[in-house]
Amino acid sequence: MKTAKELQATPIAGETHQVHNVASDLHSYNLFTTDAALLEGVKREGGEWGVGEIAAFGEKCGKPEYLELGFLANKYTPELDTHDRFGNRVDSVRYHGAYHALMKSALEEGLHSQPWTNPREGAHVVRGAKAFMQSQVEAGHGCPVTMTFASVPSFRLQPEVAAIFESKILSRGYDPRNVPIDEKQFITVGMGMTEKQGGSDVRANSTMATPVNQPGAGQMYSLVGHKWFLSAPMCDVFLILAQTTAGVSCFAVPRWLPDGTKNALNVIRLKDKMGNKSNASSEVEFRGAQGWLIGDEGRGVPTIIEMVSLTRFDCMGASAGLMRAGLANAIHHCKQRAAFGAKLIDQPLMQNVLADLQLEYEGAMAFSMRMARALDLKDNDEHEANLARLATAVGKYWICKRAPQHSYEIMECIGGSGVMENSIYPRLFRESVINPIWEGSGNVQCLDVLRAIGKTPAVLMAFNAELNKARGGNAILDTYLNNLNQQFMQLNPADMHGLQYSARTMVDQMALAFEASLLVRHAPAAVGEAFCSSRLAAQGHHNYGALPKGMNVKAIIERADPAIEKA
Ligand SMILES: Cc1cc2nc3c(=O)[nH]c(=O)nc-3n(C[C@H](O)[C@H](O)[C@H](O)COP(=O)(O)OP(=O)(O)OC[C@H]3O[C@@H](n4cnc5c(N)ncnc54)[C@H](O)[C@@H]3O)c2cc1C
Repeated sequence: MKTAKELQATPIAGETHQVHNVASDLHSYNLFTTDAALLEGVKREGGEWGVGEIAAFGEKCGKPEYLELGFLANKYTPELDTHDRFGNRVDSVRYHGAYHALMKSALEEGLHSQPWTNPREGAHVVRGAKAFMQSQVEAGHGCPVTMTFASVPSFRLQPEVAAIFESKILSRGYDPRNVPIDEKQFITVGMGMTEKQGGSDVRANSTMATPVNQPGAGQMYSLVGHKWFLSAPMCDVFLILAQTTAGVSCFAVPRWLPDGTKNALNVIRLKDKMGNKSNASSEVEFRGAQGWLIGDEGRGVPTIIEMVSLTRFDCMGASAGLMRAGLANAIHHCKQRAAFGAKLIDQPLMQNVLADLQLEYEGAMAFSMRMARALDLKDNDEHEANLARLATAVGKYWICKRAPQHSYEIMECIGGSGVMENSIYPRLFRESVINPIWEGSGNVQCLDVLRAIGKTPAVLMAFNAELNKARGGNAILDTYLNNLNQQFMQLNPADMHGLQYSARTMVDQMALAFEASLLVRHAPAAVGEAFCSSRLAAQGHHNYGALPKGMNVKAIIERADPAIEKA
């Protein structure tokens, strides 16, 4: 009889080779307690009280059966039934069970409601950390979850309309049935702004709204028109922009009317998207669909911006989540895979790449957690309100835009198998290009930065005050801040062309300075030093894996290693 070693060495008859030097799937790790940047961020920014519940959710997110839901929900994509088999209009989307399972889990965890039902210091931080981990499992279903979460401040601008929906929005549970709200305990909320002729410029909206009886806030209007993008069309109610005689206005349009009949909101088709596959995004028409006016006529943009600023915040966390999911998998892979006689994780150049990717994530995570704190405090703290106003646009632009290159580089760490559809990597890459575009594309964010500074110069003072807290911690950062300050002082409001032309250049620097300042203040020295040396020093930073000599790359990579518990 052959020994196990001999069996391994000798292929059985008919077999061509032995499988060795390959990695395994990453699962059964706690997404929270193995992630130093997240763990420290939560504790630092006011969420220490939630560490237990975040850790419990992090454990769930790492289970193999939970991670599998993400694969299934994206493999078996949603399908639209405009009519039932008898010819009745139904406008119903069928999803795979995995999508429903993820929705149920997210909503039961309060990812859509926690800061509203338990508004204490750190509530946005704790909820943000959990939503961030869930996005690593699957990003598509995060769209309706985040829209439901973000809709609450907009609804509250019209209390009598909020009273119809709010308790069902905030309840922890999921009811996917296509039935009137009266028959449901739990509901979800979508958002419709973009039309064929204009997405960024919603003032170009052509959908018209006319009063059913009386005009005015809280009254019912009838909408005729369309939306070119309306994601998660199975939501129970949508905040929709449409024109009245006073201009763009915001309406709460339900799927079903209070009398139990179907609202005239027809789903025309589902988008064939390259990413965010599990989430249905649709084109719709309003054929006299009815909805309540939220806020005054003509005040639609300020009304819905309450919602949009929160979805922008979630885009930051979701893109940081894509970075973290890719990195955890890549480190797991590189610890198992060898080339040229050594494990990839021990090869100096791969160490440089992985550490650099972790630095990108560290900056993104520190930024996102700081914004969560600003959201927690902004109602009672002017500095935090000003910071949230400006830095959300900076962060949405920067973090979302950094993710595609990060996701691509992760694929290259894996090699050829990194682009195979039976791995997580193509999905992460496809998701990474969506976040920069929706909820205000890159240029729109940069223009928003200019608008915010122009309208309320105090936002720039708040941003600067935050940067200055890091002064003295790193000489490279100090020089960088001096240069940035020079640029701020030379801003010429009269030169709008010049300001717009160079807006990305300025916002790039603002983002880097903000991330660097947080890492210099709070992260271990190895992280802050490597971030500043690679990204702020004069030599530039063109591709990942270009960290200068002398960086403690092993310490940086260990912070990301999903096999090492940090708590
Ligand atoms: C998967 C997916 C789901 C979506 N779901 C929804 C949804 O549920 N609800 C919804 O309302 N929308 C949704 N959208 C639409 C999305 O918000 C818009 O696509 C986005 O806002 C851009 O609008 P647009 O496509 O009309 O592009 P445009 O507005 O035409 O913009 C094109 C480009 O021009 C740039 N640009 C615009 N103005 C300027 C300027 N003044 N100076 C310089 N550059 C400028 C923009 O940054 C952008 O890069 C979704 C999009 C995607 C991809």
